[in-house]
Amino acid sequence: MHILLMGPPGAGKGTQAASLVKEFQIPHISTGDMFRAAVKEGTELGKQAKACMDAGKLVPDEVTIGIVRERLAKDDCKKGFILDGFPRTVEQADALGKILSDLGLSLTRVLSISVPAADLVERAVGRRICKTCGATYHVKFNPPKADGICDECGGELYQRADDSEETMTNRIAVYERQTKPLIEYYQKAGIYSEVDGRQPIDKVTKDLVKVLKG
Ligand code: ADP
Ligand code: AMP
Repeated sequence: MHILLMGPPGAGKGTQAASLVKEFQIPHISTGDMFRAAVKEGTELGKQAKACMDAGKLVPDEVTIGIVRERLAKDDCKKGFILDGFPRTVEQADALGKILSDLGLSLTRVLSISVPAADLVERAVGRRICKTCGATYHVKFNPPKADGICDECGGELYQRADDSEETMTNRIAVYERQTKPLIEYYQKAGIYSEVDGRQPIDKVTKDLVKVLKG
């Protein structure tokens, strides 16, 4: 099962990836998570990524493609993966096709979680993430049992630096301009499916699993 999760920022890709990992026992590969880890470690990659992320812009294609190529070459990807947040440009999609064909792999399905732009800012601004295990919450739509504490591991919750209203406006515009063309790209490849992301989290998961098992 080699899955690509698409959708605008805040659509629920990370939330759904966590459920799909449990369902299919395959790794979740999020370029956003990889960049945030590099920022935390203070590496050169992290410094370069941080400037782009804080502005709500994309990290340059050659940098992003390089880290994905390295990650997909690891053994755990042979049985499958859930790619989240990559590709985000046509150039990245072309590169992904090449990386996978070099590895003798191909995408099973591209799943897009559709959510109208008007809902995305509220989703992102209310997002909280566990510092320890990365679990995602929302202050209103998916609150933890105890304020600021992760249900899964007791870790402290934090708000992403780029989850402000202003940065989200840029991120949504970048999605519309640079990532949305990939819908047609994967429709043409015959592997594209869309799920209504305005539904409750569990229902979105059910719909995604239904497409994948159907
Ligand atoms: P993405 O990875 O696509 O940026 P996330 O999975 O981090 O999105 O979700 C963004 C925010 O929206 C999080 O706070 C999450 O708890 C919340 N969320 C996710 N799915 C839903 C949903 N179906 N309904 C309401 N809120 C949701
Ligand atoms: P995400 O966690 O997917 O919301 O991504 C957070 C930020 O990381 C984005 O706003 C970009 O700055 C950067 N990023 C993540 N994935 C990519 C990608 N595929 N290409 C370029 N930049 C990315």
